[in-house]
Amino acid sequence: MMKKRLFSLFGALLLSTQAALAEPLLKAEKLADGVFGLIGSTAGRLHENLGLNANYGVIDTPDGAILIDSGASASAAKLLSDEVKKLTGKPVRWVINTGSQDHRWLGNAYFAAHGAEIIALERTVATQRRLGLGQIEALRPALREQVDGLEPMSAERPQAADQVALQPGGRRIELRYFADAHFAGDSVVWLPKEKILFSGDHIYVDRLLGILPESNSETWLAAFRQAIALQPQHIVPGHGRVCDSARAQRDTGDYLAFVVKGTEKLAADMAGVDVAVKGLGAAPEFEHLLNFSDLHKGNVSRAYLRFESGQ
Ligand SMILES: [Zn+2]
Repeated sequence: MMKKRLFSLFGALLLSTQAALAEPLLKAEKLADGVFGLIGSTAGRLHENLGLNANYGVIDTPDGAILIDSGASASAAKLLSDEVKKLTGKPVRWVINTGSQDHRWLGNAYFAAHGAEIIALERTVATQRRLGLGQIEALRPALREQVDGLEPMSAERPQAADQVALQPGGRRIELRYFADAHFAGDSVVWLPKEKILFSGDHIYVDRLLGILPESNSETWLAAFRQAIALQPQHIVPGHGRVCDSARAQRDTGDYLAFVVKGTEKLAADMAGVDVAVKGLGAAPEFEHLLNFSDLHKGNVSRAYLRFESGQ
C-alpha cells in the first residue's frame, strides 16, 4: 500500500515536472489573418526562459514573415525563428525593433546572419547604440553562455522620420514614435487595417511596469495616450496578456498617471524623495499587479528624482 502510494506520489511529481518542461516559452495567439502575438513569461530574465520574458509579434506575407522584436540573445532568436516557421511556414525576412531594451533587439544579429532586414527608427537605433554593450554584460549573470559571442547589431539604414508607413510583402504597417517612454526612442507597430497595436514597452498588463533610469514617466504617459488614441481592437502589450484599451488603461495608463501626478506635485513642493516614496508607497488599486512590491517604490523614486532635477 505504502509502496503504491509512494509510487503514485512520485508519478504525480514526474508528471507535473514534465508539464512544466512542456510549457512553451512563448504562447502564440492569432489576432487576424496572418497576424499573431507571441506571449512570453511575466517572470524575470532567466536562463530557462532564454531572457524571453516579453512579447513579440509575427505577420505573414507572401514574400516572407515579419517578426516584431528579436529577443535578447541568439538562443532566443533561434526559438523565435522556429515559432515563426511553425506559424507561417516561412523564414523571417524582416525584423522590426520597437525599442532598445535587450529583449527587443539583441537577437538582430542572428536574423541578419540568416538574411533578414532589420527595420527601426533612427531614434530607437541611437539608444541601442548607446546601451548595447552594457546590456549584454548586464544579461551575463542570468543568461551565461547564451550571450557568448553576442554582438549588438542595429538596423543599417534606420528610418529618420518619426512615423513611417511600410509595405513589407505588401502588408500595410506603420512604425510610429510618440515620445520617449520606457526607453528613449521607443516606437509601436500599428496595423491600421486590422486595428492591431504591437505596443512594445509602452504597455504592460498583468505585471507592474518598470520606471528605469532610462525611462521618462511623464513623456511615457503622453506616448501611452497617443497609442491608445489609435483605438486599437487588440493590443499585444510589451509584457502580459493580449488585451484591449480598457485593460491597458487600468494597468499602465492609470498607474503612470498616479505616479506622474503624485511625484510632480511633491517635487514642486520640494518634499524630498523619501517623503515621495512614503506618501505614494501605498497604491491599493495596483497592488494586485505582479512585481508590485519589487518595483513600485523604485518607480516612485526615479519619477520623483527626474521631476526634481527638472529633466
Ligand atoms: Zn520590456
